[in-house]
Amino acid sequence: MQPLSRILSYHAHVYYDPARTRGVAEALRQRIAERFVVQLGRWHDVPVGPHTAAMYQVAFDTEVFAAFVPWLMLNRDGLDVLVHPNTLAPRDDHLHQGLWLGRPLPLNEETLPLRIEPAQETPIQPNTVPTLAP
Ligand code: ZN
Repeated sequence: MQPLSRILSYHAHVYYDPARTRGVAEALRQRIAERFVVQLGRWHDVPVGPHTAAMYQVAFDTEVFAAFVPWLMLNRDGLDVLVHPNTLAPRDDHLHQGLWLGRPLPLNEETLPLRIEPAQETPIQPNTVPTLAP
């Protein structure tokens, strides 16, 4: 058994196709920023790390999950999203402990460390100021 306290935060990776669905991803990103206190990551139009498609990351604290993830279920607008916990075990977090909204995509397992130290897990620094209700 793993206690819930192992989950330090979450990521949602929002995947898109730069040629076809970047505009959809931009609209979703804007809607997220208007509604949730999260840390929106940079655009990666080229696959990076374990990710095999273009994406941006949304990092959020555990107390945001209950409102944000159901909202994403309803509002992802056809985009594929990986939601995973951060427990200092990146390989398990991405490959075995996450949930997919939409179609699961392959991940490059070998880029994911088995364990990281607490100091390597960067705290969430929200960069959104919501103006609308979820
Ligand atoms: Zn992640």
